[in-house]
Amino acid sequence: MRPNRPIYLDNHATTPVDPRVLAAMRPWWEENFANPHSVEHVLGRAAEAAVEQAREAVAALIGAEAREIILTSGATESNNLAIKGAARFAAQQGGERRRIVTLATEHKCVLESVRDLAAEGFEPVVLPVRPDGLADLDRLRETVDDRTLLVTIMAVNNEIGVVQPLAEIGTIAKAAGALFHTDAAQGAGRIPLDVAELQADLLSLSGHKIYGPKGIGALYVRRRPRVRLAPLFSGGGQERGLRSGTLPAPLIVGLGEAARLAAIEGMLDAGRIAGQRDRFLAALRAEIPEVRLNGDAERRVPGNLNLTFPGIARQGETIWPDAQAIMAAAPDVCVSTGSACSSAEVEPSYVLRALGISEREARATLRIGIGRFTSPADVDQAAAALAAAWRQALAAGARP
Ligand SMILES: *Cc1c(COP(=O)(O)O)cnc(C)c1O
Repeated sequence: MRPNRPIYLDNHATTPVDPRVLAAMRPWWEENFANPHSVEHVLGRAAEAAVEQAREAVAALIGAEAREIILTSGATESNNLAIKGAARFAAQQGGERRRIVTLATEHKCVLESVRDLAAEGFEPVVLPVRPDGLADLDRLRETVDDRTLLVTIMAVNNEIGVVQPLAEIGTIAKAAGALFHTDAAQGAGRIPLDVAELQADLLSLSGHKIYGPKGIGALYVRRRPRVRLAPLFSGGGQERGLRSGTLPAPLIVGLGEAARLAAIEGMLDAGRIAGQRDRFLAALRAEIPEVRLNGDAERRVPGNLNLTFPGIARQGETIWPDAQAIMAAAPDVCVSTGSACSSAEVEPSYVLRALGISEREARATLRIGIGRFTSPADVDQAAAALAAAWRQALAAGARP
């Protein structure tokens, strides 16, 4: 093994493309590049058939029908389409319901979509979460009423990995006659998801979080009873008029293969990944016993660890290690200080702040994402490197 091979433990930001996915995509770049809407010729029809087969595989992963799957550019677009599309369609129909309920720990694209709708006369309600990161169901029950149009709550949090009680949330939404959308970008392939069981009307997922390609995703839109959306884009009317634009057949074939593999292997992955996580945490705790796990310890996906590194007391003051300094001292370990989309910001994670974690502690926190291709050697080396980096960061912080 080369000494400075980067160790990738950032599988919440994105996952590598599974080699089998890449192999499935190849012919659709090289041999048949036809537009899947060009059904007048043989190559176009073959591309269309490949797209439809992929759509079936995506549907099967979540217990849906193929015609309930709208293909998009990713979970950001799916979330925008679900939230803005549902709200705008309801408003066009003269609907009275204006409230949209979500959680403070949602992905930015959900929070911003909900907040954008305030300017269109909707009433966004962003609920706090419990200190373990889970939704407070009593609070949700009080908030979701007959004025509520939509409840949008994620399946799995991208920073702290907690799994929300989706079936209970679905029941609360349905009891009030509201629509239920879930952002399942981090849940698909990692936990079992069945749209009927969850009573979900709308569900978003992304290719590059399930070992598929970037730039492709899907939105499940329930047909019975039918959920209607206003499209975001004007154009050729593809995807039942909900998402105009030429379908990228190679990316869709990749998404389909990734979904097929996730359905077969997702739960096998989960057991192995949980083993790697326990191995990593045991190795780290042997060096740093006080490292603290954020988010509920049980209701979480196996690959996620969100860890606050401890400070040291020095002359009545606590000196905290800085997560940036830890990462700088372990340059071959690819982890993150928060979600990839906001880690360029100086602000500490709003997700951790929503759990009641102090700004200083949030700045001493790293997110570790173990995945399908993480080896035991990876976790051993990463744990040793991060423990050494923590000591260095503390020493740097302690210098006057
Ligand atoms: C990655 C992610 C998104 C965005 O997905 P893209 O396909 O990159 O647009 C949305 N929500 C969650 C929870 C995510 O983890």
